[in-house]
Amino acid sequence: QGREVKRAVDWKLKFYKFLQDFRDSAGVFKYRERIFRMTHMMQKSLVVDFSDVILYDRELARHVEEEPDQALEEFSSALMEYLEKEQPEYKEVVGKVYVRIRQPPRVLKIRELTSDYIGKFVAVEGIVTRVTRVEAKLVKAHYIHVTPDGDTHEFDFPEHGEMGERIEKPVVCPVCGRTGRFEIDLEKSKFVDWQKVVVQERPEEIPPGQIPRSIEVVLTGDLVDSARPGDRALITGVLRVMPTQAVQKAMGRSVFSFYIEANHVDVQQKVLEEIEITREDEEKIRELARDPWVREKIVASIAPSIYGYHDIKEAIALLLFGGVPKVMPDGTRIRGDIHVLLVGDPGTAKSQLLQYTARIAPRGIYTSGKGSTAAGLTATVLRDKTTGEYYLEAGAMVIADGGVAAIDEIDKMREEDRSAIHEALEQQTVSIAKAGIVARLNARASVLAAGNPRFGRYDLTQPISKNIDLPPTILSRFDLIFVIQDVPLPEKDRRLARHILGVHSDIEKAKPFIDPQLLKKYVSYARKYVRPQLTPEAMRLIEEFYVAMRKGGIKGEDLKTPPPIAITPRQLEGLIRLAEAHAKMALKDKVTIEDVEEAIRLMYATLRKVGFD
Ligand code: ADP
Ligand code: MG
Repeated sequence: QGREVKRAVDWKLKFYKFLQDFRDSAGVFKYRERIFRMTHMMQKSLVVDFSDVILYDRELARHVEEEPDQALEEFSSALMEYLEKEQPEYKEVVGKVYVRIRQPPRVLKIRELTSDYIGKFVAVEGIVTRVTRVEAKLVKAHYIHVTPDGDTHEFDFPEHGEMGERIEKPVVCPVCGRTGRFEIDLEKSKFVDWQKVVVQERPEEIPPGQIPRSIEVVLTGDLVDSARPGDRALITGVLRVMPTQAVQKAMGRSVFSFYIEANHVDVQQKVLEEIEITREDEEKIRELARDPWVREKIVASIAPSIYGYHDIKEAIALLLFGGVPKVMPDGTRIRGDIHVLLVGDPGTAKSQLLQYTARIAPRGIYTSGKGSTAAGLTATVLRDKTTGEYYLEAGAMVIADGGVAAIDEIDKMREEDRSAIHEALEQQTVSIAKAGIVARLNARASVLAAGNPRFGRYDLTQPISKNIDLPPTILSRFDLIFVIQDVPLPEKDRRLARHILGVHSDIEKAKPFIDPQLLKKYVSYARKYVRPQLTPEAMRLIEEFYVAMRKGGIKGEDLKTPPPIAITPRQLEGLIRLAEAHAKMALKDKVTIEDVEEAIRLMYATLRKVGFD
C-alpha cells in the first residue's frame, strides 16, 4: 500500500515516434523537416519546441520536466536512431547529436529557483552579465594502463556516458582487470567546448530596494558563445548544485550553490516587448496623445515631488522618448538616444531626479559613477580568485542596453571607464581586448548623468570644464547640460519650502498627472511605433540655428559667456534628436517647426546657465 508499481514506459520509443509523427497545425511533419535541415546545415543539435511535446503527449512532456537527464539522453538516442535509419552517412560524420528544447511552458524568476527544482528541467530569463573564455572540458579520457611488466593497455573512460565535474580514474584496468598506473593521453581524449556565464535578474524584475540575484549557467558544445554580456536570454536546462568554494577548503560543509546546465539559449530581441500593451492601453495612449496639453502633462508627471526644474524635467521627458536612430547604407549608425548631464550644487535633488527616472524608464537602471559592480560603467575583464578563470563582465551601460542608464556622481568614475565611455556614449558599443578576451558589446542606452562641482559649489566665473572633473571630450557627448546652482533667493526659497512642506503634509499633492504605469506604456509605445520625419521647414530652421550658433550668437543676441562646449556637428545631431523626441512625445509622425523651436530653446538654455525657474 502506498507504493506504486511503475509501469515500464519505453520513453525512447515515444520520443522516436514524436520526431517521426508530429504534425503542426498545417499538417506538416515539422521534425522530419527540421531534421532534414539540420543535416543539411551540418548541425549537431535539433531544436524542439516544448509546446509541441506537450501537445503530442502530456506524459512525455512531464517526463522531460521531472527527469530531464534521463529524458534528454533518451531523446538524443531516439534522434540518433532516426538519423541512422534515414541518413546513416550523416550520423557517421557528426557523432553525437543533441536535442535542444525551447519555448518552455513556464519561465521562473531567478529568485524562484529553490532546492525543490534540483535535477529538474527549468527555464529562466535574465541578462547575461558575465562570460568566461571558452575552454575545453574533458568528456572521455583516453587512458593508458602501464602494467607492472611494462605492457600497455589503452581504453576510453568512462565507457558509457561522459565525465563529470572532476576527472574520474578507473579502479582497475578494463582490459586486464588489474590495478596499476593510469595515464591520460590528452591527444586521443574527447573534449567539448565549455563556457560559464552568469545570468542576472532583469532590472524590471528586481523588487524595489533589493540586490539583483544571479545564477551561473554552463554552456557546452554548440551553445558556447551563443550569448554575450548585455544580452537578454531565455535559458532552459537542468538545475544542478556544486559545492561552494568553502567546501573545497574545509570538507564536510553541506552548502552548495546552484547552477544551470544549459540545454538551450534563446537570445531575445532588444525591443521593448517586456511591457505588454493591450488594446485597452492603446486606446488610452491614443486618447492621451490627442490632448493638446499632453507634453505639459508628461513633463509635470516627472518627479512631481520635486519643485521647479521645468526645463530639466522636459529634458528628461525627451530622453525617455529619444530620437530616431539611423543606420546609413555604409553601416554607420547614428544614435537616437539622448544624453543629459546635470552638474550642480549638493542637495539640489539631482539624485532624486535620477532615481525617479530610472524607475519610470523602460529598462532603467540607477548606478553611481563607481558602478555597482566591479565592471563599473562599461565592461572589464576580471579573474576569479578561486578558480583562476578569466571572465568578461558587463557594466551598467551594457546592462542598460535598450533602456536608460541613470549615472549619479559620474565625475567619480573609474579610470578605465573614463577612456571607454567615449565610445559607449557615441557609438554605443563597448570594445574590450584583455587577457585573451576580445569583444564588442552593445550599450545602446540613453544616459542621464549627474555630477558634483569640483570645488564643492559651482563657480560661475569658470567654464563648465573647470567646474566638473570631466574632460571636454566627454562633456561634448551630452546633448544637454544643465547647471544647477543653489543660491539663496528669499522668494524662491519660500516657494520651495511651501512645496516641500505641502508634499510632506499631504502626499496626494505629489501625485503625478499621468499614472506612472500608463506613462511607462506610453513611452514604450512611442519608442516602438513612432518614427517622426523632419519636414523641409524644420530642416531649414535647424540649419539656420546651427550656422548662427557656430558664429557665436543668435537672433542678434550674443551669448553672454562663450559656449561651455565647442559647437560641432555633434550638437547639430543633438538638435535633430531633441526635435524628433519632442514630436514623438505627442506621437506625431512629422517633426515640425514647433518641435525644432522647443529643441532650440532647450539647447540655448543649456548654453547659458540654468537656475530655478
Ligand atoms: P543631490 O543629489 O543634488 O545632492 P538629493 O537628490 O540628494 O541632492 O536631494 C537632497 C534632498 O533635498 C532630497 O530629499 C530632495 O528631495 C530635497 N530637495 C532638493 N531640492 C528640491 C526641490 N527642488 N524640490 C523638492 N525637494 C528638493
Ligand atoms: Mg546626490
